[in-house]
Amino acid sequence: MIKHVHVIGAGLAGLSTAVRLTHSGIPVTIHEATRQAGGRCRSYDDAASGMHIDNGTHLLLSGNYSSVDYLKAIGVTPDFAPANFRFVDGKTGESWVLRLGDGNLPTWIFDAGSRVPKTSLLDYLKLLPLLVGRTDRPLREVLDRGSELFRRLLNPLMVAALNIDTPSGSSRLAAQIARETLLRGGQACRPLVFEQGLSTAFVDPALAFLKERGANIHFEHEVEALTTSDQGLGALRFRDSEIAIEPHDAVVLAVPAYAAKALLPELKAPDQFRAIINIHYDLAPPSGSPFMTGVIDQTVEWIFAFKSRISTTISHADRLLTLPRQELAETAWREIANILEMDAPLPKWQLVRERRATFAATPAQNARRNETKTRLNNLVVAGDWTDTGLPATIESAIRSGQRAAELLSNR
Ligand SMILES: Cc1cc2nc3c(=O)[nH]c(=O)nc-3n(C[C@H](O)[C@H](O)[C@H](O)COP(=O)(O)OP(=O)(O)OC[C@H]3O[C@@H](n4cnc5c(N)ncnc54)[C@H](O)[C@@H]3O)c2cc1C
Repeated sequence: MIKHVHVIGAGLAGLSTAVRLTHSGIPVTIHEATRQAGGRCRSYDDAASGMHIDNGTHLLLSGNYSSVDYLKAIGVTPDFAPANFRFVDGKTGESWVLRLGDGNLPTWIFDAGSRVPKTSLLDYLKLLPLLVGRTDRPLREVLDRGSELFRRLLNPLMVAALNIDTPSGSSRLAAQIARETLLRGGQACRPLVFEQGLSTAFVDPALAFLKERGANIHFEHEVEALTTSDQGLGALRFRDSEIAIEPHDAVVLAVPAYAAKALLPELKAPDQFRAIINIHYDLAPPSGSPFMTGVIDQTVEWIFAFKSRISTTISHADRLLTLPRQELAETAWREIANILEMDAPLPKWQLVRERRATFAATPAQNARRNETKTRLNNLVVAGDWTDTGLPATIESAIRSGQRAAELLSNR
């Protein structure tokens, strides 16, 4: 029986581990390297622009059941919007709304009025090999890249979900995303974006839940090394102290892939990453702007119209990392102003580059993911990069943490 667990890292994987263990009555201590919880999913007051922003606007879907469980456990009721997605084609100026309905089967593909314009039922049926294929292959071998369905739906969807250039993406990860959302109909694809910021939903309520139940949470407490032996993990080493792992204690390593590998080189872990860029503009959108717009064939990929600001997300953004920030902010603003039909000069802005936003979702990198267990009987791993079968997402991080907690609770 485990008596106490040390969780290293207070991102969503670490927090979900801690919430699940606390729920099972197992005492927890969290060690987080930075001053703040949330990791790659966090909000902050940006001094330069005066805005309260997220490092990146995050989208959750109602089919992300592990995340929904987590939110409910910490007392947050997710309020999903209907599964209607507006798109604008930057090449032709055409716009349409993809209506997925609220059923539990993808019946919208049979309705020409709900489908992507210029696509036929046959285009969708051609996706079957992706869903039944057993080997993990690059998507270039599975998808018809010449089709309008690819250009107008599959490509933007895959770039957003896998954060990779679609042709190199993993067919297995793409298929799993489809199984958990699109194939389960509109009821599993209802979107949720956090108007008040990510931390108000995922982080602050979790910290309150944990503190109320006696968890110890240490910020600026980076684990610098792990002491191991044949018996298992012996100690956690910090800059000026060490904590011995007692016989009935366990440790969950819930840090990003590169940090986990640095602490324990024997772990399997992805070693290639992809960037995401978000730009936030300090201007309220015109009234009636759709909350979320997918943009085809432009620099910006998604536009989010919050109450008092406009944000845009660009995934698989490594190609833009060397571009001057001002130039990118201006280009993106021109596109946004055009799409939202605004005649407004560039407002105050902030651009956030997350260089290692997610691991590269290729078949080769997907094969480098560690299972929850490790060779050391008192150490398990969690994180969006562990072998959850999903790309690096909130859902993957939270599910990995729940798995780690369950494994320990059952020991
Ligand atoms: C810009 C951006 C946009 C995104 N958009 C979406 C989206 O729309 N939808 C979606 O589902 N997902 C999205 N993601 C992915 C999602 O944010 C991540 O998959 C998820 O937050 C990863 O959580 P994690 O706990 O696995 O890792 P992390 O968030 O990286 O947490 C790890 C924690 O460990 C800490 N740590 C590291 N080393 C040590 C150490 N030695 N000792 C102690 N602590 C340590 C870190 O400080 C960090 O707090 C996005 C990510 C980014 C960056």
